[in-house]
Amino acid sequence: MCRAGTGAGRRRMRRCMADAEPEGSGMEEKMAERLTGHTELIGLMAYPIRHSSSPAMHNEAFAYLGLDYAYLAFEVDNSTLEDAVKGIRALKLVGSNVSMPNKTVVGKYLDKLSPAAELCGAVNTIVNRDGVLEGHITDGIGYMESLRDYDIDVIGKKMTIVGAGGAATAIEIQAALDGVKEISIFNIRDKFYEVGEETVRKINEKTNCKAKMFDLADKDALRAEIADSYLLANATGMGMKPLEGKTWLPDASYLRPDLIVTDTVYAPAETEFLRIAKEVGCKHMNGFGMMLFQGAAGFKMWTGHDMPIEHMKEVLGIHYGD
Ligand code: NAD
Repeated sequence: MCRAGTGAGRRRMRRCMADAEPEGSGMEEKMAERLTGHTELIGLMAYPIRHSSSPAMHNEAFAYLGLDYAYLAFEVDNSTLEDAVKGIRALKLVGSNVSMPNKTVVGKYLDKLSPAAELCGAVNTIVNRDGVLEGHITDGIGYMESLRDYDIDVIGKKMTIVGAGGAATAIEIQAALDGVKEISIFNIRDKFYEVGEETVRKINEKTNCKAKMFDLADKDALRAEIADSYLLANATGMGMKPLEGKTWLPDASYLRPDLIVTDTVYAPAETEFLRIAKEVGCKHMNGFGMMLFQGAAGFKMWTGHDMPIEHMKEVLGIHYGD
């Protein structure tokens, strides 16, 4: 078994996570050893995509476990997506990740959708099972798994979440499917508000969870919903560039020390929202875990193996909380 968790590997991964140019030296010899006529291919179809940390993450995990797979990024947009999906079948790829702008479009080219992908109207993972292409969404799975990994148990409890975009919808749907009892969703009155209303309708119709939608401008409702929630989540872009240093949370008085606080943002690792949560004494978690575990879910579907989570945390320099 090849253990490639070297210092160079760690540096390469950290550079990718920091959106810097990947290191070139040392990689070529490893590739010549590793890639053969038997190597199975997994893709990532999105545009733009060259900045993604997913290839470095998956290839590090394959190398560490000695698995004969390679993961490559392809610049694919909506205009070339159908041909690219046909290519998965023709070239017998094991599968692919899909990111923007293809997540909400790719479903129509696939043969089957998971219940979560169907409800979200989005796919980020394709699995090729002998020519039958399945679509899954693993962002919500990743979020829920990261909670479990950090000993946070939200099942049977109430959560309040701010956001109604792609990440938020995936989390809301998966949380409802997994057995969260109540979800209160807040969003500003932008184009995503209606998406949130639709998510609430689907959750109430298709799951045992009770969901409600609120305007983020309604601060009394925000205070009241947070007050009897076990967990409060940010799933908006507030806190990362160009909104770095900002939060929709009016002030610290909305939080209490026994509230769990999570953020989907991981760059910066500590958003203004998490900074306030930490000050109040809340157990808190950034978006690194969600990112890692959404990848791990696809990794398991493609290879049948568990991603080496502790190794990946070390390589990626992942810390959820303090
Ligand atoms: P999106 O564009 O689909 O949704 C954006 C959301 O932010 C919407 O709810 C929108 O209403 C809200 N928003 C935008 N500007 C706002 C403002 N000024 N005030 C309040 N709300 C505002 O984006 P997305 O893909 O859902 O990503 C949302 C965040 O989640 C981003 O920070 C992204 O980096 C992060 N994310 C993390 C992971 C992970 O694995 N950790 C995965 C996906 C997304």
